[in-house]
Amino acid sequence: MVPILCCSVLLPCSSGSGDLSNQLREQLAKEQQRPLATQKTKSVTSTKVTTVKPKASTVKPQSTVYKITAYCLCKQCCGKTDGITASGTKAKPGRTVAVDPRVIPLGSKVLIGGKTYIAEDTGNHIKGNRIDVLLSTHEQAIRHGVQNKPVVILGRT
Ligand SMILES: [Zn+2]
Repeated sequence: MVPILCCSVLLPCSSGSGDLSNQLREQLAKEQQRPLATQKTKSVTSTKVTTVKPKASTVKPQSTVYKITAYCLCKQCCGKTDGITASGTKAKPGRTVAVDPRVIPLGSKVLIGGKTYIAEDTGNHIKGNRIDVLLSTHEQAIRHGVQNKPVVILGRT
């Protein structure tokens, strides 16, 4: 039988296994110290803080107070009953408003008291800062009367 001579091959281990582990421990300790040192320098450089003040850039669209009246599609209000607006579209209550096209271009989106309408009709009596809102019945139009409301012209879409 041939005896297994492990130590004849790995000579250093027989004499100084304890020293090796000590060296390893020292190496590990050094390596653990190194990243700590770099972290310290990093934290110093990253302390520069830039404060950005939020700009008050939310510009409110300009609103002008218009005289708001109402009309319906009856002959009394329109002089006709076909329901076709000055811009050729079919008038629709809740969407159509009559405007002075020299003040508000036809086809513009118009915000009246927070509600969006489309300027697609005109009227003989609609001049300047005046808007006629189309309602579904003559009774509603009469009840509406004359109201002053802030209007924002949103422009054509
Ligand atoms: Zn009417």
